[in-house]
Amino acid sequence: MKTLQSWVDVPANSDFTIYNIPFGIFKTDYLQSGVGAAIGDCILDLTYLNKNGFFDALDIPQGTFDQPYLNIFMALGKRKTSAVRKRIQDLLSADNTELQNNKIARELSLVPMAEAEMQLPVHIGNYTDFYSSVEHATNVGTMFRDPDNALFPNWKHLPVAYHGRASSIIPTGQPIHRPKGQTKAPDQELPSFGPTKRLDFELEMGFITGKETELGDSVSTKDAEEYIFGFVVFNDWSARDIQVWEYVPLGPFLAKNFASSISPWVVTIEALDHFRVATPNQDPKVLPYLEYEGEKSFDINLEVDIQPEGSEAATTVCQSNYKHMYWNVNQQLAHHTVNGCNIEVGDLYASGTISGPTEASYGSMLELAWKGTKPLTLADGSTRTFINDGDTVVMRGYCEKDGIRVGFGEVSTKVLPAK
Ligand code: MN
Repeated sequence: MKTLQSWVDVPANSDFTIYNIPFGIFKTDYLQSGVGAAIGDCILDLTYLNKNGFFDALDIPQGTFDQPYLNIFMALGKRKTSAVRKRIQDLLSADNTELQNNKIARELSLVPMAEAEMQLPVHIGNYTDFYSSVEHATNVGTMFRDPDNALFPNWKHLPVAYHGRASSIIPTGQPIHRPKGQTKAPDQELPSFGPTKRLDFELEMGFITGKETELGDSVSTKDAEEYIFGFVVFNDWSARDIQVWEYVPLGPFLAKNFASSISPWVVTIEALDHFRVATPNQDPKVLPYLEYEGEKSFDINLEVDIQPEGSEAATTVCQSNYKHMYWNVNQQLAHHTVNGCNIEVGDLYASGTISGPTEASYGSMLELAWKGTKPLTLADGSTRTFINDGDTVVMRGYCEKDGIRVGFGEVSTKVLPAK
């Protein structure tokens, strides 16, 4: 039940309530990049708070927060990072006067979001993309292969994934250029080269690890959450015409690695605890190393908007939910490490496209417009089968239960013409 109140004004429907306290990297005209926590329409400057003694009882080293990434903070370990989050929650509580009644500290530590530019929150060393939505995998398998055998025989026995490209993961607000590449239409004998004609988004969530393992070690489903710092919304840009030509036999390459966009605030797994739900039933039974206990999925509402250039109106083209994923994060991490593959602080593990059971919940244009055969009509009257130059794609995620809201804000990316 809703019991916490903040003395900071939190607008109705804000993603950044006192129950959330996500971490991100911000800068302003007058402050260098550093770690902040979101509350309402403000950012709490953690560098300032640590320099001025507000975290003294927690023994957080100076230099933890005046950083361009969250990695050093995350590497302190969950005991410390959770204590910092709890301390921030206390400092922001209506019944705590420590910061509330300290006029100078209050004014210097609270930065209006409107004055800040959000950066990439994490230095991402390794990026893996799973393929964990049964609806998405079934839709794609139906379109590209065989409706009667849409899923490969391995799909329900292991969380399928590929290793992605970390260097091209970009923060919200950074535009991308339409990628170019090799494609071959079915009626052509030879491939041709040019800008993709089938630029697509993929609606995904990603989790970020805050603890490393040694090469050779494995993480069990039971221990997986000790390694998960938090979650972001993730737009895994894709070029479908390049993908369909290049992906045999080794999987995605240039169709995927030109860009992926990430939301700026990392919402901790602790903040999502209230929104846990059961993972969908898994049949056939999984191998013992993939068995798990408890509620390991999260009820997170997800939306995708398209806003054409010069149009006032954005159109919501997809409403999905993270809870639909067939494989949960504990299973993903257990599978990823079962062979001894090591994980590092700041790794990103994306879910794969999150499609739900209804047509309106499909998480990519490929599925929403069914391979170009069912164009979507936008609010300005224009139609789309894929993404046009000038379009801005915006993804949002939020949880809501018992009057408590915890959200991710948005990840927004504009598509510019090919270079
Ligand atoms: Mn993907």
